[in-house]
Amino acid sequence: MTATEPQTTAAGTVAPRPAATMVDVRNVHKSFGRLDVLRGVDLRVPAGSVTVVLGPSGSGKSTLLRAVNHLEKLDRGHVSIDGELIGYRRVGDRLYERSAREVLRQRTHIGFVFQNFNLFPHLTVLQNITEAPVGALRRPKAAARAQARELLDRVGLADKADAYPRQLSGGQQQRVAIARALALEPKVLLFDEPTSALDPELVGEVLDVIKDLARTGTTMIVVTHEIGFAREVADTVVFMDGGVVVEQGPPAAVLDHPQHERTRAFLSKVL
Ligand code: ADP
Ligand code: MG
Repeated sequence: MTATEPQTTAAGTVAPRPAATMVDVRNVHKSFGRLDVLRGVDLRVPAGSVTVVLGPSGSGKSTLLRAVNHLEKLDRGHVSIDGELIGYRRVGDRLYERSAREVLRQRTHIGFVFQNFNLFPHLTVLQNITEAPVGALRRPKAAARAQARELLDRVGLADKADAYPRQLSGGQQQRVAIARALALEPKVLLFDEPTSALDPELVGEVLDVIKDLARTGTTMIVVTHEIGFAREVADTVVFMDGGVVVEQGPPAAVLDHPQHERTRAFLSKVL
């Protein structure tokens, strides 16, 4: 007689449920005239994770971020965020373009931080941060201001609320830009070389803010050449070249044991 043995499992462990996909990029193609810039990009970013995108200049990194935000129309493929198609609507098996108004609504859930900060020069720091919550989301001004002050505190600029962008260093301006992006409570934050325009001594303060966001579970895609940051903060490192993802994986795998010659060649230049 054979008794059914209970399955032995490691005591007390429950297999972790994989995090839901927050950003899902599927087979995205984009050309400018005869230049094929994205040639079938797939990328899945789990909620609460950090993906760092590396790659040589011209490999399509900025175009990929712009595609995620629907600042570029796609030639093929699609992007969804938190299960919602960006820029398009599916009816049966066909995709239709969303209205400009709907795309703007979708973009309010996607924070974008640019290389050159792009703050409004004629608005104070506080006004830069409250502009979209009040204008686009119709939040009450007092609540938006209170939230902006909290965000400024978080990025270490509580005393700069009334300053104008030109009165700030590049690192401070970029931290304001991050606070501004956070004010919309986005589902994902996209960073396009957020420290490339900064003097070297100002890079650290901006990376520290991004690291802090990573610790609190903000979903992020960060295009950067800061390999040390990638190693420390990324859950996934993606190497792009020629409009495709050449390889991706945990930082230790991609950075220390790259599988592809193109990745090795790139890393040997930036490390
Ligand atoms: P990366 O950010 O990796 O440096 P980009 O995505 O900015 O690369 O650009 C990839 C290629 O696409 C480059 O050759 C660039 O000149 C070209 N490109 C980007 N945007 C446009 C555009 N709006 N019109 C024409 N060519 C573009
Ligand atoms: Mg770029």
